[in-house]
Parts: sequence; C-alpha cells; structure tokens
Amino acid sequence: MTAMPDLAAIEARDAADPLRHMRDRFVLPQGVIYLDGNSLGAAPKEAFAELDKAAKEEWAQGLIRSWNHAGWFDLALQLGDKVGRLIGAGPGETVVCDTTSTNIYKALQAALSMRPGRSVIVAEGDSFPTDLYMAEGVASTRPDVKIRLEGVDADNIEDLIDDSVAVVLVNHVNYKSGILRDMAALTAKAHAAGALIVWDLCHTAGALPVELNAANADMAVGCTYKYLNGGPGAPAFIYAARRHHEQIRQPLSGWWGHARPFAFTQGYEPGAGITRFLCGTQPVLSLRALKGSLDVWDEVDLNALRKKSIELTELFIELVEATCGEFGVKLEGTRDPNRRGSQVSFSHENAYEIMQALIDRGVIGDFRAPNVMRFGFTPLYVGYRDVWEAVATLRDILATGAWQDTRFAVRAAVT
Ligand SMILES: *Cc1c(COP(=O)(O)O)cnc(C)c1O
Repeated sequence: MTAMPDLAAIEARDAADPLRHMRDRFVLPQGVIYLDGNSLGAAPKEAFAELDKAAKEEWAQGLIRSWNHAGWFDLALQLGDKVGRLIGAGPGETVVCDTTSTNIYKALQAALSMRPGRSVIVAEGDSFPTDLYMAEGVASTRPDVKIRLEGVDADNIEDLIDDSVAVVLVNHVNYKSGILRDMAALTAKAHAAGALIVWDLCHTAGALPVELNAANADMAVGCTYKYLNGGPGAPAFIYAARRHHEQIRQPLSGWWGHARPFAFTQGYEPGAGITRFLCGTQPVLSLRALKGSLDVWDEVDLNALRKKSIELTELFIELVEATCGEFGVKLEGTRDPNRRGSQVSFSHENAYEIMQALIDRGVIGDFRAPNVMRFGFTPLYVGYRDVWEAVATLRDILATGAWQDTRFAVRAAVT
C-alpha cells in the first residue's frame, strides 16, 4: 500500500490558498469534513444575519409595509442578477423563484410554444430524474409531444437532434458522474437544427464558471441550495436570453408574473422580461437567507474557485487510487479535470455501507444508487488537509472492514 503524502506539504497548500479565508464565512460543525456541499451547501454566517433581520425587524415590526420598505417585492429579480453574474447572464436575464423542477416545467412549456410544429423533447437517460419526470408532466399536457432519450434512443445526444426537435433539456454537469458537457458546442448543434436548448445548472452554479450568453444558450435553470449555499429548499433560478423575452409564454400564469400584479385586473398579461417566469408570492425568509449567501459570492473570483476545485478533485483521486485501489474502489466519470465538475464519484459494491461508515466518522459525502459514493468539493470551505483526512479515513474503513458493522446497512429515506 502506498503511503499518504507528508501532511506538512498538504498544510503548506492550505496556507498558500487564496480562498482560505472564505471558510471563516461559514458555520461548520466541529469534527466534520463536509464533502456534500453539492447536495446541501454549508451555512454562511451572513445568511443568519439576513434571516434574523428579515424575521425580527422586517416581519415582526415592519409587517405588510416591508414589501415596499424592506425591498421584499424586488428580491426575486435582485437575487437573480447576483446569480446571473455567476452563470454568465446579463442583468435582467435571471430570476430566483420556485423550485428547479417547477422551472424546468415552465422552461419546457415556453420552448415548445416557441417552436410550433415541432413536438420532440430531447433529454438524457441518465439525467437527474426530476428533469425527466417534469418532461413527462409536460408531455401529459401536450398529447403530440414525444421524449427522446440519450442512452435509450441513441448513444449520443447529438444523434437525436433533428428538425422535429423543439427543445433539448440537458445537464451541464451530470449529478452522478460529475462529467461536464461542452455548452457552446451542444448549443450550436441544437440551434443548427432549429431547436432551443435548456441547460440545467444545478451542479454548475457556484461550482465552476459558465458563460450562458457567450455560449448563446436559450434558457437555463438551477438550484441555489447546493454549491450556492442558500439553505435547505432555497428557491431556484431560471434564466432566459434577452432575445427571447418577448416571445416567452409559460402556463403557470400566476399574479406575480403578471404585468401589473397590483392592478387586480381580469385576464392574464405576461410581465416585462424575465418576471413573466414568476408565479405566486415568493418565500421571503428563504430569499433573505439566500441573499446572505449570495453576498458572500459577490466577493468570489470564479477562476480562482475553478483552479482550487480542480486541485482538490485531482488530489482526492490521486490519494484514493494510491491508497484504496486494492479494496475495489473504482473511479467513475472522467480522469480529465477539464471535463469534470466539482465532484468525484467512486463506485464500490458496498458503496452504501462504506459511505455510512464515513459519515459515522464525520466525513460526510453521499450515496447514489446503485453503487456510487459521491464526494463534492466546495472550494469556499473545503481545504487540502480535509482531502487528506477524508482519504485517510476512507482507507482505514476499507482496510479494517469497519463498514461491515450491520448498523451501516440500514437504509435511510434520504441518501
Ligand atoms: C438537485 C437537482 C434538482 C433538484 O430539483 P428541485 O426541484 O430543487 O428539488 C434538479 N435537477 C438536477 C440536475 C439536480 O441536481
């Protein structure tokens, strides 16, 4: 078995890390190495300050007046612009609202309406399931719609795109394998066939830089409770390129998406620009926690973030392969750091039990059926020493067989 590298060398990398100070902006429990920020981001201190103010002053004291005086009404757009900076959108092209699932529904319906005469949705067979469930929901409202899946109807998504396709729904980073798609190339391919493309950025936003406008993307969705650290169930975002705003119609036509919500008139009229994607009253407390988190992101240089993310994932792979390979742990996804998001997956026959044993020792990653251990590397609060310690713990659990304890085989509702 190869020895672990010298800890002093690893600590020197932490000391030289330009993002190191960002860790102090988060509350992290003692004794935990948190490698699951790709499922639920850690809690930024600013989020608590925002929540406290929103609840105790603005809600309790300001009451209904706070919709105007505390800026509640504009939060969805204001925070949309903060997210927009992180995904290469211009001002007024992104709004924060609802859930990613709901936003997928709205985006697909809008895209189908913009491509009359075309009835095919192309998606990925190994997509995060909710994306496909929502596509099925859309198809249930439009009897002509057919869904074509990569991995089912053809091996490559490119081979599914022809002039019957209205919209391609695709994940930028695959949630399980961490593999990253070439956004500009696939967008160009969809456009060449006359189709629109909707990018799911759940594992991109806050994980790596992306340039929606430079790639000429049409629409995008994503969540804010993963790498963006907005808090459990924080509202999602939706982006549409400005060139499409006037044509966009989506069927969840609630009053917040109306041109004049407080005119209380009869008959729906879509609001200006991206606001037409809103539906009903938005969750102000959740939005305010997200604001605290996005204020932290305002200070982050995404190129420095990406550089550290690649270094963390490369170090993790190198150490796991050097010290745990003999126990049947196998790298999933790609070896090429430029084609990888900010997560690493390893498979093992007993992945579930091993992950439970890791969590029991304070190394928190997660399990994805049927046999994947998933580790997320969030450069704002994970350091090089964390990687070293996580691998040392994994090696010990494998070498001693500690994962075989029967309590680690009990399946919980959320994995
Ligand atoms: C996490 C995730 C979602 C979650 O959708 P919600 O509606 O917020 O629960 C959707 N798509 C992808 C790719 C995800 O990773």
